[in-house]
Amino acid sequence: MDCIFCKIVEGTIPSKKVLENEHVVAFHDIQPAAPVHILIIPKKHFAGMNDAQDSDWPLIGEIHRAAQQIAKEQGVAETGYRLVNNCGKDAGQVVFHLHYHLLAGEKLGGLNA
Ligand code: IMP
Repeated sequence: MDCIFCKIVEGTIPSKKVLENEHVVAFHDIQPAAPVHILIIPKKHFAGMNDAQDSDWPLIGEIHRAAQQIAKEQGVAETGYRLVNNCGKDAGQVVFHLHYHLLAGEKLGGLNA
């Protein structure tokens, strides 16, 4: 399958990983939109939130648990962070392997800003 994030999971494309466990990988975004910009993905390939099956909800929970851990490790748990999933064209999704952006390290614009 020609999926860039699957290749990152396999290690055939390099990444700056910050967390890896049985189900989840997290790594620095190649084009950071904030001082801390980390992508959290399931090792299992599915295109996006619309494609999650009932059996995938525990995996979504694993991603949120990873986000909590990463925020602590990156020192942004107290100052705050945003966890973003872009689903589909209008949201600006360009990589069709489910992923969450963890954004932090400055006052973030947009929602409630
Ligand atoms: P989307 O717009 O939610 O699909 O976000 C995809 C993100 O993947 C973008 O922020 C890209 O900068 C990031 N990205 C694409 N290719 C790579 C890569 O090879 N390594 C790390 N991040 C990547």
